[in-house]
Amino acid sequence: MSETIFGRIASGEVPADIVFSDDELVAFRDLNPQAPHHILIIPRRRIETVLDLQDDDAALVGRMVIAAGKIARELGFAERGFRLVFNCGEDGGQEVYHLHLHLLGGRRMNWPPG
Ligand code: AMP
Repeated sequence: MSETIFGRIASGEVPADIVFSDDELVAFRDLNPQAPHHILIIPRRRIETVLDLQDDDAALVGRMVIAAGKIARELGFAERGFRLVFNCGEDGGQEVYHLHLHLLGGRRMNWPPG
């Protein structure tokens, strides 16, 4: 399985605007932001899509969501609200096949999404 750009960000090989990292996760600003705050939260370990998650990954996914809330608080937009998105596969608009959670905030979101 060849590495994606996100794997290279997680290993430090490619620079990114990192806002949080620990043993399991890295969070960095999206290069093409769709909101004033647009952050991607990824596991260091390569998992391609939501469909590749196993039961043993439940805690990891939980930590991704909890990290998103903490980052939103630290960056000061949590109380106004925000959106979390996992794009999955072609119809989901997934471009990078390394699991990532989009954290979008700092503006009013529309529904339905495009
Ligand atoms: P998705 O369409 O869900 O796969 O989202 C991929 C996201 O990664 C897009 O919002 C891109 O703007 C973003 N992206 C791609 N390359 C980079 C990069 N090197 N650093 C930060 N964000 C990136």
